[in-house]
Amino acid sequence: MAPARRKMRNTASCAVLAVILGVTCRQTTFTTTSQRSKLLVVLDLDETLLHASLCKDESMSWLPPRFWQPKIDFEATGKGLVVDLGEEVPLFVSLRPGALNFVSWLKSREDIDLAVYTAGTEPYAKQTLKKLGLEGCPALFREECVPFGLPITKDLRKLREDLTRVVLVDNSAKSFWLQPENGLLVCDWDGTNASDQELDRVKDNLLQLLDMDDVRPALRRKPPDAPGDAVDLRLVIIAVALGCWLVSQSQ
Ligand SMILES: [Mg+2]
Repeated sequence: MAPARRKMRNTASCAVLAVILGVTCRQTTFTTTSQRSKLLVVLDLDETLLHASLCKDESMSWLPPRFWQPKIDFEATGKGLVVDLGEEVPLFVSLRPGALNFVSWLKSREDIDLAVYTAGTEPYAKQTLKKLGLEGCPALFREECVPFGLPITKDLRKLREDLTRVVLVDNSAKSFWLQPENGLLVCDWDGTNASDQELDRVKDNLLQLLDMDDVRPALRRKPPDAPGDAVDLRLVIIAVALGCWLVSQSQ
């Protein structure tokens, strides 16, 4: 083969190889991006997106906000406030300022999967999901809290095994005990602050998480042995003992 022709052939081979390598590299990059799962945003309900009170009568306004609040968006019925004991009672529910817009924004994002995880009972929570526009959304209720369905903490692996791109938006630090690096803590909303803007802050934080392959380093929190949590641990022990007692009584 003539040197010039051999040179041309080698050059062509190199070009083909470069194209193949280039395509392979681009495919690898594209595959990595496309394989990244959507950010799973798990929403708590009570004191995060809404607040439910037992009374709407203004004559009862001397009561703490848990029992009375000035603005009611809708009525629901609830049964039991702690461990599902007691009769059904009317509950007066207020939506947190910005809650509807926040949910609407989450639903509009194609890079976000949405779920709900609440310590509320299913019949009560389903009424609130409808009002928030979250009906049909994957949801876990009190029965899926741990341990034994008690409203103590939440196990995100019930929603997704891989937790690299999962964030639980919750007002209770206790909810993060099993997966503390997946928690985005929000301030309690007790139904009284009409100018609350906490959900705007949550939205900004979620926007920052969207492009992260692993959101956990950014969400890393203080260790669960802080003084406040030590008190809660005693409550857990009491609740577990109560749960065991209830189980033994039901058998
Ligand atoms: Mg809550």
